[in-house]
Amino acid sequence: MALHNTKDVEVVNLSSLYQSPPVDGSKQPDYINAVCEVKTHLTALELLYVCQEIETKQHRVREKKWGARTIDLDIILYGVQVLVSKKLIIPHPEMMNRAFVLVPLAELEDDLKVPVLGPIQDLILELGEFELTKL
Ligand code: ATP
Ligand code: CA
Ligand code: CA
Repeated sequence: MALHNTKDVEVVNLSSLYQSPPVDGSKQPDYINAVCEVKTHLTALELLYVCQEIETKQHRVREKKWGARTIDLDIILYGVQVLVSKKLIIPHPEMMNRAFVLVPLAELEDDLKVPVLGPIQDLILELGEFELTKL
């Protein structure tokens, strides 16, 4: 995982991979998602920039090797911090609607209380039905 190779970020926990169909039900390939926990001295915004650098690099490598592929590296939470700015919103504004975020997150910490939103298990229940395969 690319985050392992950055000097300012230590990956301390990584969920399983989860496969889910594209949101719009189109012919696009399935998504693969995972959540990782990192330790860092970077601020949330600095961490976002690191993520964006990795995205840029990976786009480039993959385009050469296997044609169009993309990665998407989002910040879901930053400890108990709540942040709303132009560039960064934490908790991630769509997390409560996404099984592919909540389920792997709960795998890392099943009794997590998400700032503003509440217990992770409640959020998963509120999703209702979802299609997600643990790989
Ligand atoms: P979504 O937000 O629905 O997951 P996306 O990840 O596909 O969409 P991007 O195009 O990757 O959207 O990101 C658009 C912008 O979202 C980024 O440039 C960034 O400034 C902003 N952003 C706001 N909050 C966050 C966050 N918590 N994590 C990552 N990016 C964020
Ligand atoms: Ca995203
Ligand atoms: Ca993103």
